[in-house]
Amino acid sequence: MTRCSLTQSRYSLKTALEWRTADPEKIENFQAGLLRSQVQQAGQAPYYRQLLRELGCSSEDIITLEDFRSLPFTSRSALETDTAAFQAVEAASIADLSLTSGTTGNPIVVPYTRNDLERLAFNELMAFWGTGVRPGDRYLICVTLDRCFVAGLAYFSGLVQLGATAIRSGPGQSARQWELIRRLKPDGIVGVPTFLLKLAQWGKAQGYSPRSSGVQSLVTIGEPVRGPDHSLIPLGKDLEDAWGAYVYSSYAATELETCFCECHASCGGHIHPELALVEIVDEDGNVLPTGKAGEVVVTPLGVEGLPLIRFRTGDMARLHTDPCPCGWRTTRLGPIEGRLAQRLKFHGTTIYPEMIFRALRGIRHVEEAYVEVRSSYDLSDEIRVVAGTDASDIDADMVAEFLQARLRVRPEVILRPRQEVLSTMEKAGGRKLKRFFDFRDNNRP
Ligand SMILES: [Zn+2]
Repeated sequence: MTRCSLTQSRYSLKTALEWRTADPEKIENFQAGLLRSQVQQAGQAPYYRQLLRELGCSSEDIITLEDFRSLPFTSRSALETDTAAFQAVEAASIADLSLTSGTTGNPIVVPYTRNDLERLAFNELMAFWGTGVRPGDRYLICVTLDRCFVAGLAYFSGLVQLGATAIRSGPGQSARQWELIRRLKPDGIVGVPTFLLKLAQWGKAQGYSPRSSGVQSLVTIGEPVRGPDHSLIPLGKDLEDAWGAYVYSSYAATELETCFCECHASCGGHIHPELALVEIVDEDGNVLPTGKAGEVVVTPLGVEGLPLIRFRTGDMARLHTDPCPCGWRTTRLGPIEGRLAQRLKFHGTTIYPEMIFRALRGIRHVEEAYVEVRSSYDLSDEIRVVAGTDASDIDADMVAEFLQARLRVRPEVILRPRQEVLSTMEKAGGRKLKRFFDFRDNNRP
C-alpha cells in the first residue's frame, strides 16, 4: 500500500532540491525518461491508445524531447467530449474524484489515484518551500476544501507534508477569518487575490490591523497579480499594501494536476522538472523560443489517473530559462498574459456565457437575459447577468443563489422588466438577439 509520507514517497525533498540546481542538460535527459513513462501510462487510456496506434508509435520511440514533440496536442474540447476515454486506471484504483469548474456546463471529472494525490501534495510542498515556508510555519487556507474542488486539498496536503501547520478555514466569511487570524496567528494566507483584498479591507473597517496581524506572505491563486514584466498589477499592489505582506502568484488547473508558484524572486512560477513539461506554442502549434509569449501547453509528469499529453490550456504566457535569483535553475512560467477566445475568468473559475444561459433556463419567470462582462483587475472578469422578468415573486438574490448552485460562482444579477431586456438585446443585435456584451479591454497582449 502506498503511504503518503515523505519517507515512503516516490518524491524526496532532498532529491528535488538537488534537481533544482542541476545542469539544464541533465534535467532534459531526466525529463525525457519521465516523458517516456508518461506516454506509456497515457497509452493505458482508450483515447491515447488509439492515437498511438494510428501514429504507429509507442512509448519506446520517445527517446528525446524532440521525439516527444512529434506527438499531437490534446485539446480541451477532446477532453471535455469524452473524459472517460482519457482515464488510464481502473475504477478501483481511484482515490478521489475532483471536478473542474467546467466550461460547457459539464465539468470534467478528474480521477486521482493515491499516487496522484501524493504527487499533488509534493507539488504544493515544493511550491510552499519555494515561497520560504518551513516546518512549523502556520498557513490559513482560504480556498474551498470540499465541493469536489481540488485546490484546497492540494494546499492542505502540501503544508502537512512540508511539516507546516494548515488552518482549514475555507473561503468567505470575513468575520470568522479574522477571528482565526487573531487567535491562531498564521504566518501566511492562501486565497484568491480579490477575496484577500476584501478581507483586509473588512478587517480595517472593524478596527483590526492587517499590517500588524503577523501575516507575512500571501500565496494567491486564480487571478493574476503580476503583469508580463513581473511587476505587481494594481490588485497585487493593493494586496501587498493592505497586508504589508509578500504576494506570491501561482498558476494551476485541476485537469493539469499541477501548480506553478513563484519564489521570493518573483520572476515566474517555478516548473518542477519531475512534475511537468511546459511548452509555449504559436497559433499553428509551433514551439516558440524562450521568452516569446504564446499558448501554454502542459504535459503533467507522473500522473496515473488522467495522464494528458501536450495539453493546450488556452492561456497565454512565456517561459524563462535563465537561472532564478533564488538559486534554482529550473524553468519558470511567466504571468498569464491573456486568454484565448471568450472564456471568462471569474474569481479563479473558468466560465462561458453559455453556461449561465443554460442555468437560467431552469428558473421559471426568467424569460430573457444577457450577460455583460467587464475587466476588473486586469485578467479577472466582472460578470453581470441582466435578467428579464415581470414576476414579482422572485428577486435578484434568488437568481444569484440559483446560479451559484448550478455554476459554483455567483455573478452579479440585475432584474429588469422583460420588455426592457428584450429591447436592449434587439437594439444591439439586429436580426439576432445579442446576449453577450463584452466590455473587456481587448488591447491586452
Ligand atoms: Zn526562484
